[in-house]
Amino acid sequence: MAHVLIGLGSNVGCREENLHRGVELLCGTPGIRLEGVSAWLATRAVGGPAGQADFLNGVALLQTLLAPEALLDRLQEIENQLGRVRQERWGPRTLDLDILLYDEWVIETERLRIPHPAMTWRRFVLEPAAQVAGWMVHPEIGWTVQELFHHLRDAFPYAAVASPWPGVNTRLARLIAERIGAELLCAPPLVKAILGVFRPDGEEAAFAERWGDDFACGGETQERTSSIPRLSRRPSDALGLDGLERDAALGDPTQAVGVILKWLWRLSEQIPCDRSQWTSDGWVVSDFWLPQWLTWAEARLGPVVTKEDRKRWETVCQRIVSPKLLVYFDADASVPAPKTDEPFLFPLGKERCCSVGKGPRIRLRLDGDAGLAELAQAATEVQIAVQGMD
Ligand code: ATP
Ligand code: MG
Ligand code: MG
Repeated sequence: MAHVLIGLGSNVGCREENLHRGVELLCGTPGIRLEGVSAWLATRAVGGPAGQADFLNGVALLQTLLAPEALLDRLQEIENQLGRVRQERWGPRTLDLDILLYDEWVIETERLRIPHPAMTWRRFVLEPAAQVAGWMVHPEIGWTVQELFHHLRDAFPYAAVASPWPGVNTRLARLIAERIGAELLCAPPLVKAILGVFRPDGEEAAFAERWGDDFACGGETQERTSSIPRLSRRPSDALGLDGLERDAALGDPTQAVGVILKWLWRLSEQIPCDRSQWTSDGWVVSDFWLPQWLTWAEARLGPVVTKEDRKRWETVCQRIVSPKLLVYFDADASVPAPKTDEPFLFPLGKERCCSVGKGPRIRLRLDGDAGLAELAQAATEVQIAVQGMD
């Protein structure tokens, strides 16, 4: 028997009755045994057409003999039985039944994604889930449902944008910050430049051709959107490097390590580790994700790191906090496939990187050639995710 966590939601008709009926029909299914049901939670509709009625949500914990596909068939049958009409995405419904977790299985097919991709940032899922299945483990993140819920409730409202394409990260982070009224934290172009320069032999030229603009070294500006409460931080120019330091770093790997560490340390300082350091409740969005950079820097510069640098390196690692939401995207077929052993490319899935700074993540279908319309669409997805966290 597998333990399965099911999410229930209703915002049409008598919501409570719909949810009860859904649970009843689940219980009456051969091969399904009910282990627990959460309290119902009233939530505002997020993401769908405007003017929808509020939802009533909850979760049920089951044990089942049904395989995931067969279980999905049964859930859809029950949804239909309760008169569910599918029109627009996230539209009003009498009953929605989603498979959130199926033991610790990871499934990705046309019809089915398990764990449910949105479960890690939806409060209306995690809050009730923590009541009945706090012990269940999210197999891709390695956290329990309880840990995910506490993170959602307590983490600094910080979203990090990460991908193999630093330029796109910046554009997307800017759009997201505008949408959610967040402070934008941009990594200095110099760090990107250094990491770009110290690539393995032979890859440099191709890299520069493709991503040259993204790594342009000019004016290290730290962009911040205006009229939003700021965290109390040093102004960006106080963090600047002089021209000599920059030239040295770009020419000499040993110097580069020092510069990189200095910057990573400063960037890590800007993302508060605990509540006592918060100076505002507003969101912060960064166009970088520190664990990615550390992995990347290590691969490029690891061999020249001195003992003293290594200590500083470890201090930076200790300061890394998991973003409340990690926004990432990867290549589709139109872009040369990333080499999986290339840490410059997005290192999710690599144990080394996953062990620091991991947590809830929203995966977008974007690549390095994304146009404005695609980026705007992606920013909307993130905006909806952020609304779902409230
Ligand atoms: P969301 O998935 O964001 O909560 P939704 O529940 O409103 O949206 P539906 O219209 O109920 O989406 O389902 C759309 C499709 O999602 C279904 O036809 C189903 O094949 C697919 N799907 C993929 N993964 C799952 C899952 N884990 N549980 C349920 N349906 C899933
Ligand atoms: Mg749903
Ligand atoms: Mg559904």
